[in-house]
Amino acid sequence: MGIGSPTTGSPTTAAAPGAKRAAGAKSRAGGGSIADKFRRLGLLRAQDFVLHLPLRYEDETRVQPIRSLRPGLPGQVEGEVIRCDVTYRPRRQLVAILRDDSGELGLRWLTFYPSQLQQMQEGRRWRVRGEVRGGMFGIEMIHPRVTTAGAPLPASLTPVYPTTEGLAQASLRRAIAEALSSCPLDDTLPQSVVERLGLMPFAQAIQTLHGPTPDDDADALLEHTHPAWLRVKFDELLAQQLSLAAAREARRAKRAPALARREGAAGLCTRLLSVLGFELTAAQQRVVSEIGDDLTRTYPMHRLLQGDVGSGKTVVAAMAAMQAIDAGMQVAVMAPTEILAEQHFQKMRGWCDALGVELRWLTGSMPARARRDAVQAIASGQARLVVGTQALIQDSVRFRDLGLVVVDEQHRFGVAQRLDLTRKGEEEGASPGNSDFVPHQLTMSATPIPRTLAMTFFADLEVSSIDSMPPGRKPVTTKLVSSERRAEIVAHVIHAARAGTQTYWVCPLVEESETLDLQTAVDTHVTLAQSMPGLVVGLVHGRMPTAEKAAVMRAFRAGDIHVLVATTVIEVGVDVPNAALMVVEHAERFGLAQLHQLRGRVGRGQAQSVCVLMFLVPLSMLARERLRAMYETQDGFEIAQRDLDLRGPGELLGARQSGMALLKFADLAQDGTLVRAAREVAIDLRKDAPEIVERHLARWMRGREDFLRS
Ligand code: ADP
Ligand code: MG
Repeated sequence: MGIGSPTTGSPTTAAAPGAKRAAGAKSRAGGGSIADKFRRLGLLRAQDFVLHLPLRYEDETRVQPIRSLRPGLPGQVEGEVIRCDVTYRPRRQLVAILRDDSGELGLRWLTFYPSQLQQMQEGRRWRVRGEVRGGMFGIEMIHPRVTTAGAPLPASLTPVYPTTEGLAQASLRRAIAEALSSCPLDDTLPQSVVERLGLMPFAQAIQTLHGPTPDDDADALLEHTHPAWLRVKFDELLAQQLSLAAAREARRAKRAPALARREGAAGLCTRLLSVLGFELTAAQQRVVSEIGDDLTRTYPMHRLLQGDVGSGKTVVAAMAAMQAIDAGMQVAVMAPTEILAEQHFQKMRGWCDALGVELRWLTGSMPARARRDAVQAIASGQARLVVGTQALIQDSVRFRDLGLVVVDEQHRFGVAQRLDLTRKGEEEGASPGNSDFVPHQLTMSATPIPRTLAMTFFADLEVSSIDSMPPGRKPVTTKLVSSERRAEIVAHVIHAARAGTQTYWVCPLVEESETLDLQTAVDTHVTLAQSMPGLVVGLVHGRMPTAEKAAVMRAFRAGDIHVLVATTVIEVGVDVPNAALMVVEHAERFGLAQLHQLRGRVGRGQAQSVCVLMFLVPLSMLARERLRAMYETQDGFEIAQRDLDLRGPGELLGARQSGMALLKFADLAQDGTLVRAAREVAIDLRKDAPEIVERHLARWMRGREDFLRS
């Protein structure tokens, strides 16, 4: 939000136009009482106001010469109005010119009151502040805040709070000041911890953040490196660690069916190994046994299986499933897209048929009749293994004796869906008559979790890693090619097709628009088909009916399609060994994790695979870094770490979908040291000082416990 918009009006501007506008906005918004607005921000108790910390600060401590203003930055100047007009082109607006000794500044109001016209009379002097923009005739401010010239300047930074429509900064400041005077700011941490870690006392930190003094380091406050910020971030991270530990303990206290291994030649696991047609790698054997051990426990497993794209996670999941089925339980395997679920189903079907295990398929887009059948077979317990999409967690689906839930590519599911899944397991009860039983849970991901993230949001997960690839894999050669050389690439694809190599041609991502995504895919399909006469060019995209999608993928797998034009629906899990060439158009629009996933679709067969990342110049700094990372490394861990550095944890956590703030103050990419410290303190406090744990959580957790459990 720009400076000078209604909600940042200052309490000292009662006579100024800004304040009138703020009042107007308030009644227009009409969003209920002020208490409602506070509630919208999660501000209920005095404690909540105390922890409602500034989003940023404004530096109103000085008046600058107009000449020193820079577009894009806030500024504050004083000067004389040398002209003021109401103009009508391109629309009705109030335009004034302010001059000081160093230069002139345009001021513009797109809506205004007669009193403002009055105020801007020639010859009057004002102090104005706002964001500077490059206008048609020089620099200008739109809707600046106007106050009396020569009035005393504040001595320190002015806090700007997160707010909601129709709630003025002034009201927030007042309420917060009140809370600060009424609410005890005692330290929840023992003095010994505060001293050992060199933390600022809580009360001092809070007072500083709400009301910095001229002595406080303004840059450190703005950049969140001030000791006051460090204290608050530490407290927040500590609360997170404490609640994660509590969640883990609660899980350990729950009961799950102990799924004993069935040894010997008749056991499903042994039989599965004999029908695979390949040997498990040492890494796969290790994780199979880690998971298998967990399944024999009487409390629910909560394990993450991570392994780079193509490392062979599916068969590991199948081994776990067979152990559960041998022990008499049902297993659900859930994937984030229909294409991926379909792939699992195909693969599992081969294995299940050979072993005589009853397998079912369930997705949202199934015909009603087939769906009813599947739901019935699941409820009766006839279906032992069920593969599907989110449809598996819908209310109408009831399992008879669910013992294990496998979630593939879990980061692609929203947080809310993951929560639903956990709850489903818990409500369901793993076994009739044993409603306190909770199924075991295995999540799989090809996006490895960087260390700081693992220590925070995923701290309640055990982790198994497949750290080597099946034999015979060759690294993929990555080429970065400017889109000006498109014709050369097309020629190369044709050449490759004649030599028997299939190609994925991935269409540019159109941010936030599925319709445009679809359109570009359709267009690309048409132009490529024209420029590749004699070749079969197929098309697959997210909006296609499931059956059609499956048919295209089957044809591609069978080698009947030379070039498959695709949107990112192929991003996860698709497995066609003969596809050794991938072209990504507008690679600069894709995220790093996405590119890594896409590239993982090739390099699965015997041939040397190539991934061509086509990009359009000029590249933004971020895009350049991403493409460089793709060129420099194929190591999924390295890529995930760089992704975290470039973008923060939101994407990995699927938090964008949840719309929920994760950590409000701490920044995982930057605060690794604090994370480690908080973790150690959490362990000690839980051991020695449960009353402190309780006090600290009471201050910091406001109904966020649920979220942390996902
Ligand atoms: P991901 O970990 O990306 O889900 P998949 O489970 O789809 O990978 O496995 C990729 C391919 O590797 C599949 O075709 C699978 O059958 C094959 N594969 C898995 N394990 C082995 C192995 N130990 N030896 C040979 N091929 C394997
Ligand atoms: Mg997979």
